[in-house]
Amino acid sequence: MSHVFPRDCRKSPPVAVRGEGCYLYDSTGKAYLDGSGGAAVSCLGHGDADVIAAVQKQVADLAFAHTGFLTSEPAEALADLLIQHAPGNLDRVYFVSGGSEATEAAIKLARQYFVETDRPERRHLIARQQSYHGNTLGALSAGGNELRKRQFAPLLVEVSHIAPCYEYVLRAENETAAEYGLRAAQELEDEILRLGPDTVMAFMAEPVVGATLGAVPAVEGYFKRIREICDKYGVLLILDEVMCGMGRTGHLFACNADGIAPDILCIAKGLGAGYQPIGAMMCTDTIYDAIKGGSGFFQHGHTYIGHPVAAAAGLAVVQKILDQDLAGRAASQGEVLSAALHAKFGQHPNVGDIRGRGLFQGVELVANRETKETFDPARGLAGRIKSAAFEAGLICYPMPGTRDGRYGDHILLAPPFIISDAQIDELVSKLHTAIEQTL
Ligand code: PLP
Repeated sequence: MSHVFPRDCRKSPPVAVRGEGCYLYDSTGKAYLDGSGGAAVSCLGHGDADVIAAVQKQVADLAFAHTGFLTSEPAEALADLLIQHAPGNLDRVYFVSGGSEATEAAIKLARQYFVETDRPERRHLIARQQSYHGNTLGALSAGGNELRKRQFAPLLVEVSHIAPCYEYVLRAENETAAEYGLRAAQELEDEILRLGPDTVMAFMAEPVVGATLGAVPAVEGYFKRIREICDKYGVLLILDEVMCGMGRTGHLFACNADGIAPDILCIAKGLGAGYQPIGAMMCTDTIYDAIKGGSGFFQHGHTYIGHPVAAAAGLAVVQKILDQDLAGRAASQGEVLSAALHAKFGQHPNVGDIRGRGLFQGVELVANRETKETFDPARGLAGRIKSAAFEAGLICYPMPGTRDGRYGDHILLAPPFIISDAQIDELVSKLHTAIEQTL
């Protein structure tokens, strides 16, 4: 009998014992094609010799040095490398151990920035419905998925939520994509004005919405308008690239595709590629200088921030992504994946939309393609597709509640950047089997 507290107490998952390339193997020898990199984590695949060597060397040289006393060579080198390639004026990197820690730190830094610059009345955070920013209480508050939040509502902080930029469902028939983008962005200005411009500290969004919407990029022009609105009212723009960053959507930083830069940016998942738990919050020199010239101290911290072994893994991962142009490979293999999905499901009566960027693709299921009506949530479609795919030897990431936290179902795909054309065919074929069996 297991003493591990599993994610789903009604299930005993198989034991993973080995990983190689795009496959994971359980203790019975069964192979699983990792079609979602777990949850958009394993961007380099499993068993990467370079990252393993970097981790082994670092753990032997220096496993841990508390950042209250010391910095470390890998943390310094990784921060340098990230800043060298970062968009806009991002200038400082605050290392953490995962995505929720990154977004949580971002919210606190935004608040402290305004306190330090004598604007303590700026306290409101605006985020978007159908986004996910993590499971700790601040990050959960910022997220817009009702299913994940409902029972914890009494514990959450107040956050305003505007609609996502979700063209498939929210663009009106008589609207162009550009017109829709401006209308969607206008919700931010309206909400800032409703709350009072001097009371808003930040707007947080995922450039490509991952887990809760299924790889939905904004229409062209949306984020440019969002950036303008934030600038107009002195509101900080926090981009959460925990899932979509680190090359997954074809650029090292996802927001490069939107032609904008944030004031604060969060990364994790692909940064450690699964070899170590690591995330980071990056901020501009303006924000950093305000803290440095004010109290001199960001009132935050965790024991494991800047962990040398995690940083060494992150450094090896980012170096590899850059040296081998793996973001470019994510873009080109993303086109292969998208074409294969369209070929297999483009005419499927229950596939309403196939969307995404790079190796971050989503398939949205509908009961009726014409009306875009969703399936009855009681059918538990997403969970059943996940089980059927797993049975067939495919790990993918189906989620219910696409539309509003309850209705809608999608499947998120985020395979390793090293995936071959033949493995893409295997992925799509196994996904097809799983969907047909379930429907
Ligand atoms: N932000 C986004 C966009 C995510 O997708 C996730 C996790 O899926 C998180 C934050 C939270 O990251 P973690 O699970 O590492 O805490």
